[in-house]
Amino acid sequence: MTAPRIDTDLGKIEQNTRILVDRLARVGIRVTGVTKAVLGSPGVAAAMLRGGACGLGDSRVPNLARLSAPLRTLIRTPMLSQAGRVVDVADVSLNTGPTVLAALDHAASRTGRAHGVVLMIELGDLREGIAPDDAPEAVRAVLGHPWLRLAGLGANLACQNGVVPDDRNMGVLSALVEHVEARHGISLDVVSGGNSANLSWALSTGHVGRVDELRLGEAILLGVDPLHRTPIPGLHTDASTVVAEVIEVAVKPARPWGDRAQAAFGDAPARTGTGPVHQAILALGRQDVDPDGLRPPEGVTVLGTSSDHLVVDLGDHLVEVGDEMGFGVGYGAFLRAMTSPFVRKVEHPGRPAQGSRARTSSGSGPPGSITTTASSKPASA
Ligand SMILES: *Cc1c(COP(=O)(O)O)cnc(C)c1O
Repeated sequence: MTAPRIDTDLGKIEQNTRILVDRLARVGIRVTGVTKAVLGSPGVAAAMLRGGACGLGDSRVPNLARLSAPLRTLIRTPMLSQAGRVVDVADVSLNTGPTVLAALDHAASRTGRAHGVVLMIELGDLREGIAPDDAPEAVRAVLGHPWLRLAGLGANLACQNGVVPDDRNMGVLSALVEHVEARHGISLDVVSGGNSANLSWALSTGHVGRVDELRLGEAILLGVDPLHRTPIPGLHTDASTVVAEVIEVAVKPARPWGDRAQAAFGDAPARTGTGPVHQAILALGRQDVDPDGLRPPEGVTVLGTSSDHLVVDLGDHLVEVGDEMGFGVGYGAFLRAMTSPFVRKVEHPGRPAQGSRARTSSGSGPPGSITTTASSKPASA
């Protein structure tokens, strides 16, 4: 198999989706599967839909264009220059401003299909969103456009400033929904409370209020809660693995020598060991992954990364040139691998969700693995 690659188990994606869909259904919340981190992969999207997601969301028009779903939502404010494309590939988009709304209305009039709008409300994280006081005027603007349909209200927290969803900020959204519905005599299809960071609130509060939908990416794909990057009980945290090939193995002295300045990416991490290091180089670098989110196999330590090299201390592992090493991934490493043209994306069907249960995770997720090509075995053997 070619390396580097990112292996994704679609059965695990489906199972993660189903578990979250079932848990949230008990509190009256639907799940939109967010595919932006997998560039709108149709395979991953289909796994999310099999797992019970009611629709798909993506932040980018080209990704949405790859997808088919009962309901496709553009989850980033449309670019003014793309309004025409947006009404073609999305049934609904998340919006905040009158200029884009007018352009969407105009574009939708040409297609003869009304375009759905979710107005995003600012609840404190200071990214996209209309101040709650200005929401009534924005609602009137949408209702005044003949080719726009007010699908609902929404919010997004935790992405820009790490503001945590709670009863207070979610309560503001619910109250606004009640106000808008009463004022205009309408009923909204969707109250989109937020992203994966809303999960622990939604599943622990007794007061979800009017929130009836969440847009979930990271929780489904990686099985972690982004607020503290902790594993979500019952979910797979190893649905995707980055695999790289060993290109050099050597025993190296503990410390570098010579006068020292900056390394390729700033100050090099201190090498603290005293004895010789059993070192390997993998053909994997910052052009392929974000090293911060990489989890090496147990007993292996990452010593450093540059554009094209990942240097590890192998510890007791016996590894040879040509062997493959698998790494667990955090969101940053995952996203970089998915967007790198050098990393092959490989999807495996995996096992279907029916009748099987996800293994309960512990710690910060499972480490990677080592696949040997030939004669290597653990050094202790
Ligand atoms: C990325 C994004 C999501 C999904 O976020 P996750 O943390 O991956 O669940 C939801 N909504 C918006 C607006 C986003 O940009």
